[in-house]
Amino acid sequence: MKIAIYPGTFDPITYGHLNILTKATRLFDEIILAVANVTGKNTLFSTDERVNLCSKAVEHISKVKVVSFDGLAIRFAEDVNALTIIRGLRAVSDFEYELQLSLMNKNLNADIETIFLVPDASYLYLSSSMVRQIVGLGGSLKNYIPFCVEEAIIQKFAELDLYDIKKSE
Ligand code: ADP
Repeated sequence: MKIAIYPGTFDPITYGHLNILTKATRLFDEIILAVANVTGKNTLFSTDERVNLCSKAVEHISKVKVVSFDGLAIRFAEDVNALTIIRGLRAVSDFEYELQLSLMNKNLNADIETIFLVPDASYLYLSSSMVRQIVGLGGSLKNYIPFCVEEAIIQKFAELDLYDIKKSE
C-alpha cells in the first residue's frame, strides 16, 4: 500500500491544492492531506475550520483522508507509515524554500522522499494568500476555490470586520 502525505497550511484550500491532490491519486493508494496545526503563523482559519473546509473540498476525490498534525511533517509521515511527502511547485519562487525543506526532511529521515508535483498552468500563480487578499477586496474567485471555501471566507471577513472596502448596504 503506497501511502503519501500532502502537508500544508491550507489557509484556505484552493483548486491549486486540489489539482496537485488529484494528480497524486494516480500515483498513490492513499493520500493523507495533513493540515498543519500551526502556532507560529497567524492563520485566517483555525485548524478545525481548515480541516472542515478541506474535508468538504475533497469529498469527491477517493483515496484522500484529511487529518491535522502538530509539529514536524516528517514525524507525522513516520506515524502514518508514509514513505512520501508531496509538495506542489509553482514558480521559481517556491523552489528555494521547498528544496531547503526537503533536504532538511531528508536529514531527519533518509527513508522518506519528497516529491514535487507541478499544477496545471491555470493554477501556477494561485496561492492561499492571494485568495485571502482578493476576497478581502470584494472580488469573486469561483474558478479558483470551491464554493464552500468562498462562502466561509466571506463569512470570516465579515465576522472579523476585515474587508478593506466597505460594501454598500
Ligand atoms: P505551506 O504553508 O506549507 O506552504 P500551503 O497550504 O501554502 O502550505 O501549501 C501546501 C503545498 O501546496 C506547498 O507545497 C505549496 O507549494 C503547494 N501549493 C499551494 N498552492 C499551489 C498551487 N496553486 N499549485 C501547486 N501547488 C500549490
